[in-house]
Order: sequence, then C-alpha cells, then structure tokens
Amino acid sequence: MAQQYDLVVIGGGPGGYEAAIRAAQLGYKVACIEKRIHNGKPSMGGTCLNVGCIPSKALLDSSHRYESTQHDLQAHGIGTGDVSIDIATMQARKTKVVEQLTGGVAQLLKGNGIDWLQGTGKLLAGKKVEFIPLNGDEAQTLEPNYVILASGSVPVNIPVAPVDEALIVDSTGALAFDQVPATLGVIGAGVIGLELGSVWRRLGSQVVIFEALDSFLPMADKALAKETQKVLTKQGLDIRLNAKVTATETKDGKVTVKYNQAGEDKEQTFDKLIVCVGRKPYAEGLLSDDAGITLTERGFVQVDDQCKTSVDGVYAIGDLVRGPMLAHKAMEEGVMAVERIHGHAAQVNYDTIISVIYTFPEVAWVGLSEEAAKEKGIEVKTGQFPFAVNGRALAAGEPAGFVKFVADAKTDRLLGMHVLGSGAGDMVHQGMIALEFVSSVEDLQLMTFAHPTLSEAVHEAALSVDGRAIHAIQRKRK
Ligand code: FAD
Ligand code: AMP
Repeated sequence: MAQQYDLVVIGGGPGGYEAAIRAAQLGYKVACIEKRIHNGKPSMGGTCLNVGCIPSKALLDSSHRYESTQHDLQAHGIGTGDVSIDIATMQARKTKVVEQLTGGVAQLLKGNGIDWLQGTGKLLAGKKVEFIPLNGDEAQTLEPNYVILASGSVPVNIPVAPVDEALIVDSTGALAFDQVPATLGVIGAGVIGLELGSVWRRLGSQVVIFEALDSFLPMADKALAKETQKVLTKQGLDIRLNAKVTATETKDGKVTVKYNQAGEDKEQTFDKLIVCVGRKPYAEGLLSDDAGITLTERGFVQVDDQCKTSVDGVYAIGDLVRGPMLAHKAMEEGVMAVERIHGHAAQVNYDTIISVIYTFPEVAWVGLSEEAAKEKGIEVKTGQFPFAVNGRALAAGEPAGFVKFVADAKTDRLLGMHVLGSGAGDMVHQGMIALEFVSSVEDLQLMTFAHPTLSEAVHEAALSVDGRAIHAIQRKRK
C-alpha cells in the first residue's frame, strides 16, 4: 500500500521545497515530487537552483571579476599582466555551486523527514495524486489531505526564433556556452536578457539586444530605467528599442536576425542568439481533466490571495500562479500556503516584493514608482541622491547610480525605493523593511547611518525628499 501523507507537494523548486520544509517543521508527514534530471542526475531546487537564479549569478560573478580585473585594478596601482578567462573552469565552478546547493536542498528534505519522490506527479479528481517514478517502477496513487502545486514555469518560445540548442538558445542554453561567441544577439531586454547579455559582453562578445517595446524597463521607475539604460549602453550593450524580431535564418554556422525597427526592415548576423522573451506557467501533465482545477486564459492556475485553488485543500504557488515570477515570491507563497493549512492567518504582502536586476551596477526597487503612485492619484514627493558624491562609493571606484525615494506628499508615508548602484539588491531591503513598518520619510531622516557606507545614500535620499540632504546643494528647503 502506498505511504500515507498529510501533504504532497508537486515540484521541488524554491516554492515547493520551502513549503515542504515548513510543513515538516509543523509536524506534517510530507512528500515532495520532483522529476528534474540535471547533468544526468535527479536534482532538487527547480529552475532557480539548476538553470535560473544561481547559475546566472555564478556567471555574473565570474564575468564581473574578469572585467573588473582587466579595467578597474590599474587605478588602484595593481598590475596583473595579461588577464585570461578559461570558460571550462568558469562553467565547472558554476556547476559546483549548483550541485552544492541542489545537494543541500536534498539534505534539508531528508533531515526534515520529507520523502523526495523522484518522478512525475499529477493531480487527479478528489485531491488524489498519481506518482510515476523516474526509475520505471509502477505508478502509485497517493491520497494526501493536502496538495500544493508548485510546478513552476518554462521559457516562452516564439515561432520567429525557434530554439535549436545550437545557434538559437533559451536562457538554459545561454548559461552553458562552452566558448565566448564573438557576436551575440539577444531577443528581449527584460531582466534575464540584460543579465545574460551582460555576462557574455563582459567576457568579450559584441552584444546586441532587440526589444520590441519602445521603452526600456517599462515596469521600473522612469528615472531608474533611464539611468540604467545609459549605464548599460556605456558598458557596450547595444540595446535597440522598438526593434521587433520578425524572422531568423540559420546558415553556415551563423544566425541572421531579421527585425523591424521603427518601421524599417533590417537584419544582422550573429554567432549565437539567445531568446529571452519571458516565461510561461508550466502545467503540462500536472492535472487530470477531472482534477477540478481552474486555469486562467494565460495558463496560470487560478488562485485567491492566499493561493487556494478551486479545489478545497489544494493550493498552488510560485511561477505557476499570478504575480511576479521570482524565487522569493514563490518561497513566501509556499510558506503561506502551509501556514494556512495549519490554521494560521498568514498573508504574503504583494506590495513589498523586491525586484532586482543583477547587472553591475545592480538595479533594484520595492514599492511604487513615481509614475505608478501618480497613476493611483497620489500626490507624491521624491528625493534622490547620487553615489557619485558618496564617500564609500568613491573610495571603491563605483560612483554610478543613485537612491530614490517616492513618498506621499500629504502623509509623508514612504511608497517606494529605487536604487541603481553597487549592492543595490541588498540595499533595497532597507526600503522593504521601512515599507513593511509603514515608515514615514521622517523616520528614515531621523536615523543614524554609519559612515562611510553606501547606505548613507539611503539616508541622504530620504533627507533630500524634503530638501535637507547635506552633501548636495538643495533647491527646495524645509
Ligand atoms: P520552479 O523553480 O520552476 O520549480 C518547479 C519544479 O517543478 C521544476 O524543477 C520542475 O521539474 C518540477 N515539476 C514540474 N512539473 C512537475 C510534475 N508534474 N511532477 C514533478 N515535478 C514537476 N528569480 C529570482 O527571484 N531571482 C533571480 O535572480 C532569478 N534569476 C533567474 C535567472 C534565470 C536565467 C531564470 C530562467 C529564472 C530566474 N529567476 C530568478 C526566476 C526563478 O527561477 C523562478 O521564479 C523560481 O524558480 C520559481 O520557483 P517555483 O518553485 O515556482 O518553480
Ligand atoms: P521579460 O518578460 O521581462 O523577460 O521580457 C521579455 C521581453 O521580450 C519583453 O520586453 C518583450 O517586449 C520582448 N519581446 C518579445 N517578443 C519579441 C520580439 N519578437 N522581438 C523583440 N523583443 C521581443
């Protein structure tokens, strides 16, 4: 007879494995079904650990060190001689980091008494789950009290640029290049396109990014997007807006991209092309026709604010459901679903989910942009402070970017924080905590920030909302 579980989680990505661990902590008997094979072995951790957040950051780190060694060290008086990059070593390091973390998750599950069922899970009618093992063993039907669907997402394919794994790749392929393409096209100037484009540009590729929209990072604060575009362009990323790719042709080991830019048909030939036009929810084989789960028009599992699906006792989380496709959002939803199962009134605050683009400098924000706040009819006040006059940023030779705050002009309540700069992804957590505590700008103004730190720019940006920044000439005074 099949083992009896209180909870079965389908999918072992950041959403699924965190849900499984939290449930085990609360005393539930849990199984996590995960079918992924990575580098020939069953692997926990989902997209994020295997082919997403972690390997991309490993390559961003290696490539940043390479570029920085070439260009930044001289000013410090450090001579290096010829600097070289060995791509095989760089990729082996990435694989080691991934294996350390995916292995760590497997250990965490084991240590918490969670059964990792290696294979495919499918939700059947009546909240039953069919488990088909990877090893060819007979399928089992599980009858848990609760199910969490956490099957994640996959890259969107576009017919004009079909992925062939040789010349045209998606993000997974772009993480595994074994040499630096001399010329590289990227379709899509979203987060993943900018990160992967940056990796290969730093290593020596001539990179062109094609973006169909006529604005850059439309979801970000306008001032932040504008400065980011300027900085990345200066680094050598050729970002072409209003440039929609209409066809591709592969011939003689090269790929030609045909695109329409502002009404004009053009083409350019590359050694490789990365397609980064977004991701879509992945529910292939996840649900039997009579499982009772409602999907949205775009293929997401329909859930309420607490991730409950249309079937009692079945929750869905992460990239499979509405909201930003981010690992930390998936993780918190997983924990929320389990807390709800346990009768706790947990709730993810969707207004304080941080966005980070891990370029150098990093781009990060939380809360409302100036434009979004105005659209909501809020009278806003803003303050901005550049790293170019921050002592620590200058000492480090990293003066690019700024911190910006958006606040309610009437109540002084903080509404959003936007940062471009070295360490922005960490610094922005100060804004997230402030938003969670419903902080006013004055609260931040009255705090003491250590000198000399990059975070002093946070203090100064808050002061500048009221024309009180010390290290800038302020026009508005209070
Ligand atoms: P996933 O991580 O996709 O995991 C779902 C798992 O379910 C998969 O392993 C899949 O094999 C398994 N599965 C699916 N169906 C079944 C089934 N029927 N039976 C058994 N198993 C099944 N996010 C960030 O927050 N920060 C970043 O820096 C970041 N960088 C990224 C970089 C890249 C290149 C990519 C592609 C993504 C990045 N993301 C990043 C997004 C992040 O990876 C996702 O938001 C996150 O992985 C979603 O987690 P999840 O648990 O919902 O799903
Ligand atoms: P994201 O969804 O943030 O990963 O971004 C993907 C980007 O790809 C979006 O900004 C889209 O506008 C862009 N995109 C989608 N299709 C095309 C295309 N055919 N040519 C150029 N850009 C595209």
